[in-house]
Amino acid sequence: MILSDLSLAQMQDYVKGQGLPAFRGKQLFDAIYSAKSFDEVTNLPKNMPQEIVESYPKYKIYRKYVSKDDTIKYLFAFDDGNIVEGVLMSYKYGHTLCLSTQVGCRMGCKFCASTLHGLVRNLSAGEMLGQVLLVNRDLGGNGKERKITNLVLMGSGEPLDNYDNVTTFLKLVSAKEGLNISQRNISLSTCGIVENIYRLADDGFSVTLTISLHASNDLSRRKSMPIANKYSIKEIIDACKYYFEKTGRRIIFEYVLISGENDKDENAQELAYLLRGFPSHINVIPLNKVAERSIKGDNREKCYEFAKKLEKLGLSATVRRTMGEDIGGACGQLRNKVLGGEK
Ligand code: SAH
Repeated sequence: MILSDLSLAQMQDYVKGQGLPAFRGKQLFDAIYSAKSFDEVTNLPKNMPQEIVESYPKYKIYRKYVSKDDTIKYLFAFDDGNIVEGVLMSYKYGHTLCLSTQVGCRMGCKFCASTLHGLVRNLSAGEMLGQVLLVNRDLGGNGKERKITNLVLMGSGEPLDNYDNVTTFLKLVSAKEGLNISQRNISLSTCGIVENIYRLADDGFSVTLTISLHASNDLSRRKSMPIANKYSIKEIIDACKYYFEKTGRRIIFEYVLISGENDKDENAQELAYLLRGFPSHINVIPLNKVAERSIKGDNREKCYEFAKKLEKLGLSATVRRTMGEDIGGACGQLRNKVLGGEK
């Protein structure tokens, strides 16, 4: 456990259990939400219980790369030497942070860098929150001043493969006394772990659900996404319909264009058959380069053409802007590293 895994009330209970008054819990909470290191916290007594000192978060920004388009890639380092990546995109309306939910990933998608070495470990709720807090501080914010307006759970990892920690994180980051980022401003991207889509709806979450679809039929999906052997596209869309009924949130489908595989007229027609009439939007994504992968993508022009075809068929579709490609910060380029050696 690290202290950032806990809500304010839990932190107060925890310090009381350690023989301290509850207000020490609030002081720790404020320091953690301002992303201070323990050494920077000046209002605590010198002789804090060892257990509290040890569980104070030690995550930090290990390195930072700034792209030509001002996108920033962050490497976050954890206690055990693991490193995950996050990407900050700045727009007119605010700052969006793309954060990681696992070190590595076990989903095995053939076009993605995050899964090259399998799953190393889950991140805890407090480690996901830490990424947000560190970048918020880097932007000049603190526990009271929030600079980050939007979050996307689209870094390394499969969020619905780490359900308990991810949902605890969603509660922490949207809590009034915390960063108070509304679930309306949070997107969760998944390859489609069907039972956990139902669970997310039943547990009362209302984040924007984004599905990595990337194929218009199951046969084609199985070629690039092993998870397609477990769930059919129909099962995923049924779960999405349920999620929409419960939350009223339109579903986003992500679709990377793979040359000669999913970019033909018949694929557009199949998508229209699957999605017409369902409140959804398709994000056509140019495939970004991953050195170790041989799958070939289409250029942007082809993506615009494909999106136009979808629109003609009655769907809502746009092409996703590519940001941070020159720093390896674009979709599918994020990977885990270990201090002392790149993985
Ligand atoms: N596991 C989750 C979260 C990762 S999100 C998921 O599958 O959705 C990362 C997004 O980038 C997903 O839509 C993923 O399919 C997409 N992606 C992966 N590799 C890519 C690549 N090489 N180029 C463009 N997008 C890619």
